[in-house]
Order: sequence, then C-alpha cells, then structure tokens
Amino acid sequence: MKIFIAGLATETNTFAPLPTGRAAFLADYARRDGSRNPPRLSNIGLRAWRAMAEADGHAVVESLSTFAQPGGITLRAVYEELRDALLEDLRAAMPVDAVLLFMHGAMVAEGYDDCEGDTLERVRAIVGPEATIGVELDLHCHLTETMRRSADVMVIYKEYPHTDIVDRARDLYPLVTGAASGAIRPVMAYADCRMVDMWRTSREPVSGFVRRMEALEGRDGILSVSFGHGFPWGDVPDVGAKILVVADGDIDRAQALADELAGEVWAMREAASSRCDTIDVAIDAALASTDPRPMVLADFADNAGAGAPSDNTAILARLARRGVRDVALGLIWDPGAVGICHEAGLGAAFTLRVGGKCGVTSGDPVDLRVTVRGLSDDHSQGGLSGGRAHLGPSAWIEADGIHVVLTHIRQQAFAPDAFTGLGLTLDDKRIVVVKSMQHFYAAFAPIASAVRYVAAPGAVPPDYGTIPYTKRSGLYWPRVADPFAAGAAETVR
Ligand SMILES: [Zn+2]
Repeated sequence: MKIFIAGLATETNTFAPLPTGRAAFLADYARRDGSRNPPRLSNIGLRAWRAMAEADGHAVVESLSTFAQPGGITLRAVYEELRDALLEDLRAAMPVDAVLLFMHGAMVAEGYDDCEGDTLERVRAIVGPEATIGVELDLHCHLTETMRRSADVMVIYKEYPHTDIVDRARDLYPLVTGAASGAIRPVMAYADCRMVDMWRTSREPVSGFVRRMEALEGRDGILSVSFGHGFPWGDVPDVGAKILVVADGDIDRAQALADELAGEVWAMREAASSRCDTIDVAIDAALASTDPRPMVLADFADNAGAGAPSDNTAILARLARRGVRDVALGLIWDPGAVGICHEAGLGAAFTLRVGGKCGVTSGDPVDLRVTVRGLSDDHSQGGLSGGRAHLGPSAWIEADGIHVVLTHIRQQAFAPDAFTGLGLTLDDKRIVVVKSMQHFYAAFAPIASAVRYVAAPGAVPPDYGTIPYTKRSGLYWPRVADPFAAGAAETVR
C-alpha cells in the first residue's frame, strides 16, 4: 500500500488584528522529511503515521508539515502556495492508496472560509473516489459539509488541553488503512449542537463525556466518535459545536448516535459551561488562600493560542496598582522590550514600557521600574504532547515583587519551564498568571493550590452570546436560550 502523508494547519481568529503570513508557517515547516525531525506540533501526527506505516511494510510519501501559531486571517497567496505545494507532491506521488492529513479545521484564508474543505476537495479530485482520505483535526474545528463529502474518515482530538494528539493519530491510521484494504467502509454523520462555547475536558461533566465517547468506539459498528467543540472566534458559516460519528457502512446508525450525543452535550450545557472571575475577584481569592502553593490565574482573553496578541496589560496593571508581591506573570509578547532588556543586561535597573502594543484589545502599555533578572537568547518551553515550543530571545524582569517573562515569539504559556527555564522560581510565589485558556492546565495544575479563569479585557473574551458573527445564524446557545425550541427567534445583536 502507498500512503501519502502531510500536515497544513493553523487556527484562525478572524477578529484578530494580526494577519497570518508566510513567516508564521515557516517557523514550523518542513517539506518531505518533517516526520524525521524531533517532535513539534507540525509533525507529531506524521511521526506516528510514518512509524505505523513502515512497521506494516507500507510505502510512505511525505509532503508538507507546517503549523502556524494561531493568529488572524491567513493571506490568500500564502495559503494557496502551501496548498498547491501539497497538491503538487500528491500528483507526483500518484497512484496512492491512502492519504493521511494533519489539519486544524478552523483555518481561514482571504477568500476561503473553509481551507480544510477546499484542500480536501482538491485532494479528492486528484486521488479519485477509490483512494481513502483520512484527516486528524483539532477539537476547535468548524466541521463543514465540504469536509465530510471529501474525506472518508475524520478523527478529532478528544482532550482540551490537547494531550491526545498522538493517540488520535494512532486511532485514525487503522481506520484509513482498513478502509483502503476494503476491511471496513467508514461513513460519517454530523449532529449540530447549535452551541458556541468552550468545554474543558479536565473536569466533570465534560471529562465523563470524553470517557463515554471512548466507550462507544470499536463496538456495534461504531468506528470513531468525536466532539468538535468549534472555535468561537471564527466568523464562518459553520462555526459552532458538532458531534461527528464514523460508523462501518451504516449511516443511519452513525446519525442516530450523533443525534443522541448532541442531545447529551445540550443537556449538560449549564454544568459544563466555563465560568470566569473578574480580575479583582481572582486576585482576592489568591490573596486569601492559606495554601503555600501558588494559585494559577488564567488570562483567558489574551490567549495567543486563540490568535490574541498576548500583550494585554489589564491584569499586570491591576496587580501593580494593588501592590501585590510574589507574583509571576507571562508570557507577554513584546519583542521591543526584550531587545531593550538584552541591551541593558543582567542586573540593570530602569523604567521599561511593557505590553499594550498591538491594538485596542491590548490595553495601554504599563511603565514599570524593573530590574533584569534573567535573559535567554533562545528560550523554550514544554509544548503540547511532548514537543518543545520555541520562544526566541526572552527576558525575566522584576518590578516590586512582580516577575514578568517577556518573549520574542508570541505563544501561550504551556508549562512551568516557560518561567523556571529563565531561573525564576514558582513554588515561592502566591500567584502565577498565565496567558492561556486551557493548554496550561496539564502542566500547571499539579503545582497549583487552585486554578481560576479570569475574564480580563482582551482579544478573545469569553462572551459567546455577543460575538459579532456575520456569516452564521444567531440561532445558537447562549445567544438564545433554546435554539431548538419551535419558533425560537434570534435576539437582536
Ligand atoms: Zn484547539
């Protein structure tokens, strides 16, 4: 069997002020040999597929592996160049029996609301109806009819934080090779939950729902069950949560189970909903804690992983104004400030203008009397599912007991070594503020007395009922109380 593998992915916040260009993809990019490189977000799925395929004695032809840090809409020429490179490699590899693609599911480019559907449609046109096409997607995906029509089988991460990217790649492989050999015949059904929200699988009832999906797989003709949470900050027609069920040949069975599970997601909406504190409520809770471990506060609305600039200053300014000490805060994306700190050198003390640079949602910059405590020319942190995530030149500064990590590369905080890698300790802090929605959780929860989520101002505020969509119906929860009710009407925006 000849198997073609490739990865082309980013998550697009169509409301973000930062266009996603060529450099964002080239930062994590390879062509034809990416799966032989050390693990990174771009290649961890491909590495698993290559290892499994070679163990089975199949021929592997590899094309792109690239993943751009989430940002604003991808430039048209950049998307078309990457897509066409992938298609060119596929044409050269023909005939192939199977295609395995690592994509996101929420990539938007100028002129393309559904980059994955567009790419998959073109892949299908090249390989014809007989070859099997399998796709692994992020759970923050927009599931479209074009994707369902073009692919044979799609498998979505089940966990948020995404700790199961490699596991899901391994799930997808036998479904694709099984279909290519004729042993199974996957069919896919969607059920639309009519909901826009974020679901954290680190806690009940959502963690129980993940176990329920897993228990349904591999029996009674059900091959795979996924919950596509959707990515709320994408202004596309298909934004929102959907269930995806893959069954062996029986579309009615797939549809019935998808509908049943969508009903369960709807039923747990209140219990599963993500609540956030105000800044002061979160700070007060941390200061009242008698646990010696730090409380971790997540700056939800400035998450680079959702396309935010990661330089909002609201929480930093409030901590400074209140005179709170023993705080660590990061990662603030501020290449200019990093350069000033490197120029000044270790131990230098001066007034530095921090953050607030990128746009209205960044807030105002904060002027702090700082001391440079740590510097790195090439900082990094533990990344998703085992890889390293590069942060570039970085600096640790302190201002009256508030310790801040500034980076040259825009990225959310995944792991404590984002701080400790510069020499900054966390176990003696009262508060650790991480700019992240949820990916921090796997590595930070074990060191925290508690984790709280903060709704500070920012580019991705957790206010799902008021996101100014122009391309989808407003008939979704929580914009309307019950979008399934007969006669439900959209509320006025
Ligand atoms: Zn995601």
